[in-house]
Amino acid sequence: MFCRIVDGKIPAEIVLRNDKVVAFKDINPQAPVHLLIIPVKHIDSLMSIEAGNAEVLTAVFAAVRKLAAEHGLQEGFRVVANCGENGGQTVGHLHFHVLGRRAMSWPPG
Ligand code: AMP
Repeated sequence: MFCRIVDGKIPAEIVLRNDKVVAFKDINPQAPVHLLIIPVKHIDSLMSIEAGNAEVLTAVFAAVRKLAAEHGLQEGFRVVANCGENGGQTVGHLHFHVLGRRAMSWPPG
C-alpha cells in the first residue's frame, strides 16, 4: 500500500522525497509530529533487509536527521520500526515512525 504513496496513486502529505526514501505525515498521528519514512524500493519489513540495502538504510537515517531539524525535534524524538504481528506492524512495507514534540514514556505499550 505504501508503494502507491511512492507512485502518487494514494495522496499523502509528503515532507521529503529523494531517489531512496519518501517521508510523509502519518494519517493517525500519535504525537504532535508523527512522520513515516519508507524506502522507495519495496522491502517488506526489518526481517527482509539484506546487505544490498545499506545505502537505503543510510538514506533513512539521513532523512531522520533532516526531518528532526526541520520539524523542531531538537529536544528529542523517537524512531520506531514495528516488525511482524507481535511488533504491531500493520502495513507490509518497511517504515520508520518518527515521533516527537512530546515526552515519550517507556516501556512502550
Ligand atoms: P505500523 O502499525 O507500524 O505498521 O504503522 C502503520 C502506520 O501507517 C500507522 O501509524 C498508520 O496510521 C499509518 N498509515 C496507514 N495508512 C496511511 C496513509 N494512507 N497515509 C499515512 N499514514 C498511513
